[in-house]
Amino acid sequence: MFGLFKKAGPQEVSLNSDQYKFEVQPDQNILDAALKAGIAFPHDCRVGSCGTCACKLTKGKIKPTADFSYVLDGEQLKSGMILACQSRAKTPVSIDVEIDDSVKVEATNSYIAVVKKVTPLTHDIMELTVEIDGLNHNGLAGQYAELMVKKVGGSRSYSFAKAPANENSKELSFYIRNVPKGKFSGWLFGKDPTGQKIELNTPFGSFYYRDKSTPMVCIAGGSGMSAVKAVLEQAALDQAERDAIFLFGARTQQDIYSQKELEVIKKQWNPNYNFEYIYVLNMEPEDSDWKGPRGLVTDYLKSDYIEKGKLNMKECQGFLCGPPPMIDAAIAAFTAEGMPNEEIFFDKFLDSGSK
Ligand SMILES: Cc1cc2nc3c(=O)[nH]c(=O)nc-3n(C[C@H](O)[C@H](O)[C@H](O)COP(=O)(O)OP(=O)(O)OC[C@H]3O[C@@H](n4cnc5c(N)ncnc54)[C@H](O)[C@@H]3O)c2cc1C
Repeated sequence: MFGLFKKAGPQEVSLNSDQYKFEVQPDQNILDAALKAGIAFPHDCRVGSCGTCACKLTKGKIKPTADFSYVLDGEQLKSGMILACQSRAKTPVSIDVEIDDSVKVEATNSYIAVVKKVTPLTHDIMELTVEIDGLNHNGLAGQYAELMVKKVGGSRSYSFAKAPANENSKELSFYIRNVPKGKFSGWLFGKDPTGQKIELNTPFGSFYYRDKSTPMVCIAGGSGMSAVKAVLEQAALDQAERDAIFLFGARTQQDIYSQKELEVIKKQWNPNYNFEYIYVLNMEPEDSDWKGPRGLVTDYLKSDYIEKGKLNMKECQGFLCGPPPMIDAAIAAFTAEGMPNEEIFFDKFLDSGSK
């Protein structure tokens, strides 16, 4: 009789025919349990929007916590695809998913951070620096942390603005854009938050530096500067044996920032290879003193690099970060020029208005 009310316990998850095994708690999703176990399960947004954690359920039963059909098409659903970030395990389950074994991804940790300082970078982007006692910064350049402020409610994702080796000890920095009517960014840009507490979990994300010898083509917009700059800092610190170009798309000169840090990357870059960064403005007044390129970053890449034969996109690796429409346009431009999908890495800065 009492057995009927037996509380559900943890369930075992097996990935790729026992390549990895871990336990998932009844109130935990499969992705979070995998990341806590230090497995490089592919993921990005972790809120059921991006589809990066899509995987095939081959055995067992799950309980979806969101409608997968927003992200997965009919064929995928029929073949047993699920979103790991929106799945609880009802029984032991087996899953097939491609795991990137080329890097060591660390298990996520939880911390209490304190706002150390906030520094305006442009009219709508702020650098947030937090201090954490006992921080073991085991993230990779390009990855992100999840930040929670009680007053705001819910969690928000923010990418590391620096390569781990460039951070001061016990500190993490983020570049955060002031989103109109946004709760977290409204809190940050409102009354000085210095000294306030933030709950923080890290590291997350499948966007990180991959070492290779092919040229890097990087595009960012808005606060997407953070993750792409961190990736480039890592490549510079590693003395990567490759060329790189970084196109930052912005509206006007008011939106330009991080020039000093990009100059440092340029100086540190492996002297046998080339690193260029270019700001491309699409809403700069015609009569202004701006001497740099104008228009869309993707058009500039095509006219000044691809058509002039400076880049063969089939042999490049792409790193993209920022607002979803810009990333979608850049992915389309990269693939149209023959860059293989598996060589394109990106983080779309999705927010609750993006669905
Ligand atoms: C992997 C990842 C990394 C990221 N990294 C960064 C980063 O480094 N820097 C950065 O600035 N951002 C980053 N973001 C975005 C960030 O996580 C937040 O989503 C963003 O800062 C907005 O948070 P907010 O609380 O200010 O806005 P929110 O309060 O979440 O609102 C965002 C917008 O949605 C609207 N909205 C809210 N609820 C709804 C609803 N139910 N329906 C329709 N519209 C709604 C709001 O009016 C507002 O315009 C990242 C996102 C992801 C997924």
